[in-house]
Amino acid sequence: MLPIITESTRILCKSTLYLLLTFATIKLSGSLYRYIRCLTMASSSSSSSTTDTETIRRNRILSSNLYFDIPSSKVPVIYSSAYNISFLGIEKLHPFDSSKWGRICQFLNLDGVLDKKYIVEPLEASKEDLLVVHSKTYLDSLKSSPNVAMIIEVPPVALFPNFLVQKNVLYPFRKQVGGTILAAKLAKERGWAINVGGGFHHCSADKGAGFCAYADITLCIHYAFVRLNISRVMIIDLDAHQGNGHEKDFANDRRVYTLDMYNPGIYPFDYEAKRYIDQKVKVVSGTTTDEYMKKLDEALEVAKHKFDPELVIYNAGTDILDGDPLGMLKVSPDGIAIRDEKVFSFARSRNIPLVMLTSGGYMKSSARVIANSIINLSRKSLIDTGSSRVKI
Ligand SMILES: [Zn+2]
Repeated sequence: MLPIITESTRILCKSTLYLLLTFATIKLSGSLYRYIRCLTMASSSSSSSTTDTETIRRNRILSSNLYFDIPSSKVPVIYSSAYNISFLGIEKLHPFDSSKWGRICQFLNLDGVLDKKYIVEPLEASKEDLLVVHSKTYLDSLKSSPNVAMIIEVPPVALFPNFLVQKNVLYPFRKQVGGTILAAKLAKERGWAINVGGGFHHCSADKGAGFCAYADITLCIHYAFVRLNISRVMIIDLDAHQGNGHEKDFANDRRVYTLDMYNPGIYPFDYEAKRYIDQKVKVVSGTTTDEYMKKLDEALEVAKHKFDPELVIYNAGTDILDGDPLGMLKVSPDGIAIRDEKVFSFARSRNIPLVMLTSGGYMKSSARVIANSIINLSRKSLIDTGSSRVKI
């Protein structure tokens, strides 16, 4: 039997329905309002936190002591005897020649190309300087010797008290970081600068690896942005290994253009970082001097048309040398001089300030090869090492 719906029942149902609809609408609007408000607040808080981070970074850079005035009598070659690592002999467990930097300068001095009194000594990058790029958490992680041992690939370092690791390993690195940062200032003033060290291209802001504990290239570029009023930087990374550290740090930063020429068959196999390379040039194991130079010529020609930098950071690793156990390439010692000459000509002919870093190079002969290349640059008038002031 069907219920009898009276007129008053219909009116009651209709009113209830209206009430329910109105209530639902109010609830929905409230939720929508809260959702939109949340989104707005999140985006404004994230943009304000980005602004805060940038302001803190800028203030740190502006109050840093790493940029200081260099008398014109000095040559823009940066080095300190503190660069060299000596750690009770265990440094010899790594294929890296840990006194390479000092030997380069000795050769330059002995050959009468650069007297040591004209060399520029940098300051050590302080904690505040390193915080420009690195987090406090990352810097704190270096207070663990096992962690440093992993980064520099020398396992016995894990057993030493951290103060010794700081003094014998991390302090030399921090001096080299100071050198890389200062090099950009000198390059802007003089057209070129060579840091006889640095080039820790496997370290990014949040991770050290492959003998690289501090991201000196990233730091150098941030200093140049703020202190040198530079807004376009080209990294030419010709170390045999892929420069995954700076690639990650400048992943989506259009102010930095990366030309990386590396052997894809060796460390670090960083597929994520590869996506951020603007110009990839792969040089497979066994590549000879002629093949290498042909690829470099083509790469520089392309780079010339792709990007107009105000500063070039040249990571000039010598692990592309024939016989290097890690680089696996077959470039001759003369090939290193030719390579460096090509990069210096590329920048100098266009009046772009150039910073050169020595980066990797794992054979004892590397120091001699680098010194010869610097001598060649001087002879070709691509740099002036003040050799006329030195009795040859
Ligand atoms: Zn390398």
